[in-house]
Amino acid sequence: ASKAVALKCGRVKEMESQEGIVVSTKPMWDFHGIDEEVIQKMIFDALVWSSLHGLVVGDRNSLRSGKVPGVGMVHAPFALLPMPFPESHWRQACDLAPIFNELVDRVSLDGRFLQDSLSRTKKVDVFTHRLLDIHSKMLEMNKKEEIRLGLHRSDYMLDEQTKLLLQIELNTISSSFAGLTSLVSELHRSLLKYYGGKLELDSKRVPGNSARFKFAEALAKAWMEYNNPRAVILVVVQSDEHNMYDQHWLCALLREIHGIATIRKTLAEIDTEGELLPDGTLLVGGQAIAVIYFRAGYAPTDYPSESEWRARLFMEESSSIKCPSISYHLAGTKKIQQELAKPNLLERFLDNKEDIAKVRKCFTGLWSLDDLDIVRKAIEKPELFVMKPQREGGGNNIYGDDVRENLLRLQKDKTEEDAAYILMQRIFPTVSPTFLMRDGICHKDHAISELGIYGAYLRNKDKVLMNDQCGYLMRSKVSSSNEGGVAAGFAVLDSIYLT
Ligand code: ADP
Ligand code: MG
Ligand code: MG
Repeated sequence: ASKAVALKCGRVKEMESQEGIVVSTKPMWDFHGIDEEVIQKMIFDALVWSSLHGLVVGDRNSLRSGKVPGVGMVHAPFALLPMPFPESHWRQACDLAPIFNELVDRVSLDGRFLQDSLSRTKKVDVFTHRLLDIHSKMLEMNKKEEIRLGLHRSDYMLDEQTKLLLQIELNTISSSFAGLTSLVSELHRSLLKYYGGKLELDSKRVPGNSARFKFAEALAKAWMEYNNPRAVILVVVQSDEHNMYDQHWLCALLREIHGIATIRKTLAEIDTEGELLPDGTLLVGGQAIAVIYFRAGYAPTDYPSESEWRARLFMEESSSIKCPSISYHLAGTKKIQQELAKPNLLERFLDNKEDIAKVRKCFTGLWSLDDLDIVRKAIEKPELFVMKPQREGGGNNIYGDDVRENLLRLQKDKTEEDAAYILMQRIFPTVSPTFLMRDGICHKDHAISELGIYGAYLRNKDKVLMNDQCGYLMRSKVSSSNEGGVAAGFAVLDSIYLT
């Protein structure tokens, strides 16, 4: 097992390489290669920079921090130095964004495909059932979404052994961190401009990241298409949100650059304050809503009562532009991801052969649990698989021995509960030494990274108004944790250093 002793700056800790995880032998830098004094200076400067530039989240230790802005802020967790990433794979990921944008749009138009693919899941998963019910109602009403806005993020890991860029998932609802991530790239560039000489690193190798500007621009363009100068953009939020500054960044840019007002409401507030006019106009607190931007509504906990479901339904019935519509939301489920990986499915939705080949190349093994051969393999070697329910927001997947236990239980029970899950081949990315900053403290650990590429798609009837790659999100997490998002406390926001 390889060992690395932590810097003085953090929790002192010895790293052993995990079973099945290879600690990279040739990192771009190692913990011992950098002068301790330089590290301490960089830590100080980075913490100051993040405070001055709004790279912040609500501090969970402060009671009011999740409810109101301006109190209890702490820097967002970030990596002190950018993560090395091959330029060719970076370009490959960027190249895929407009193709996935188009794919989501095409899939969303096939209501039968969405309903059929999720029909077994519907029987055992109440949350998916409720979403499908809304979708069914829209099909019955023959509801047409002529203006469609997608703000997606496709996430990838680079498999160490095969050197393949493989998709983890595609997020079509509440794709987070577009606001904060572009700041991390700026932070890293700023640090490298000053310290790069000492570290033999060039700040220009950190690609620019315009995620927050591009997402604000997409929302603004959608607002323009709605064509009511008095209407506002509604941001649907959770009542207790610690990642609010990420959202406020987009709202601030909408106001400052585009002159567009936003309002923030929870689903419960929308239920009480909302009104649907006979012509389809949605009013909230008397204000017409041009665009509904969901930063809540993706998890069962967002719907504690019927009130929230009522709000979701009448928003869908309205003429406001939904980001996402119920069809876009469903197109981003893990079940649909797995269906699309089946032979000849992509061909149904995409016309261009080269595009199809590019998308297929980033698909890894994805299976339904009615594939008995795979279930048997997964019981034998559970460490090579991830078991995923139809959930978003992190912390829901099943790993390792729990995969075996759950599969055996499902076999024994002989219910249809297996339809709630998909199986996915586990990806093992390169493990790299990383300086993880959290709560003002630098932890040195080995980390693996996940690269997300943002995409924005806007169309009005036959006119595609925007189909762009919109910057990136790099997240690095301690390699010994299966999962764990930035908010959950295992991962940090990162950027990339092109190699
Ligand atoms: P969510 O929608 O909850 O974010 P994901 O599919 O992104 O669900 O899974 C959450 C996390 O689990 C990912 O960020 C990644 O760290 C890990 N993960 C998911 N799928 C795989 C996989 N196939 N191989 C390795 N890690 C995975
Ligand atoms: Mg997701
Ligand atoms: Mg994810």
